Amino acid sequence: MTLDNILEEIKKAETIVVLCHESPDGDAVASSLSVMHAVAKLGKEADVIIPEYSKVFDFLPGADKILQKGRTNKYDLAISVDCSDLKRLVGGKEYFETAKRTIEIDHHSVNSMFADFNYVDPVAPACCQVLIGMFEYFGIDIDKELGTCLLTGIITDTGGFQYSATTAETFEFTAELLRRGVNVSDIYKRVLNTVTKANFELSKRVMNRLEILENGKVTFTYITKEDEKQVNAEPGDHEGLVEIGRNIEGVEVSVFIRQKEDEEDVYKVSMRSSQYVNVSDVCLMFGGGGHPRAAGTTVKGDVETVKQKVLTELKKVL
Ligand code: 5GP
Ligand code: MN
Repeated sequence: MTLDNILEEIKKAETIVVLCHESPDGDAVASSLSVMHAVAKLGKEADVIIPEYSKVFDFLPGADKILQKGRTNKYDLAISVDCSDLKRLVGGKEYFETAKRTIEIDHHSVNSMFADFNYVDPVAPACCQVLIGMFEYFGIDIDKELGTCLLTGIITDTGGFQYSATTAETFEFTAELLRRGVNVSDIYKRVLNTVTKANFELSKRVMNRLEILENGKVTFTYITKEDEKQVNAEPGDHEGLVEIGRNIEGVEVSVFIRQKEDEEDVYKVSMRSSQYVNVSDVCLMFGGGGHPRAAGTTVKGDVETVKQKVLTELKKVL
């Protein structure tokens, strides 16, 4: 049984490292810290390595312990959270590759199952929700600190309980966490209702450039590296920009592309869908992945080329 194996590996390991995907979102940062807290409750210490993340998540209990580099080159155990593919584990891949044992905990259905032990629930709305089930099985007490991390991952990945992947358990866990003192409204305000000034400036550009295409079913917009420089954008300041298009009446797919650092003709593509298009399948055509209603990939070319490449694939599924 995988969960028993995971517990055994944690108990056996003397050095543990926790890693997540590149440009980590709330679920990635919160899952990493949740594992750190849970491992501590099992009497072990885990290093969380996240080279760059949004300062929005600095309020999370334990965020001050996040490291940019490992304290050793070779860990006994490496745990990856919220990451579907070893390629996306940037900023810590080497620790994963050199670890004696590896574990993957995730909720992405397109998944390369790249660890020795893979615990993946493809219908969970957040990796943090997968972790709750796992911690309950281990008999770990979910206190206010751990609960704050877990709920932050759930709130960010469900857009505040609004996405269709949200389950009855999501609300049950949330109710239980409320009873344990977790401040739901404070988390909600910090991670969903507050935007940085740079994010606000970027959203103005995103709106001005937004095109409504394919009889109103698709929106397309972009930001460049130059835009990010001009507004002094920091890591995470592009989060949420892709949602702007999806919120327009009649739109099925919102496409937002963002120029990748230091690579002039490469764009990070984000897609969100409203009701029926499986954007994970569309992104898979370009080597990416994600979830049915939220997915991403990387595409080479300038803005116009990327737009045409993406539209060609989208037209097939609209
Ligand atoms: P976002 O658009 O917020 O960057 O990502 C949406 C979802 O797609 C997230 O679950 C994220 O992990 C996933 N995703 C984004 N980019 C990629 C990618 O290049 N490859 C894969 N496999 N998944 C991605
Ligand atoms: Mn996630």
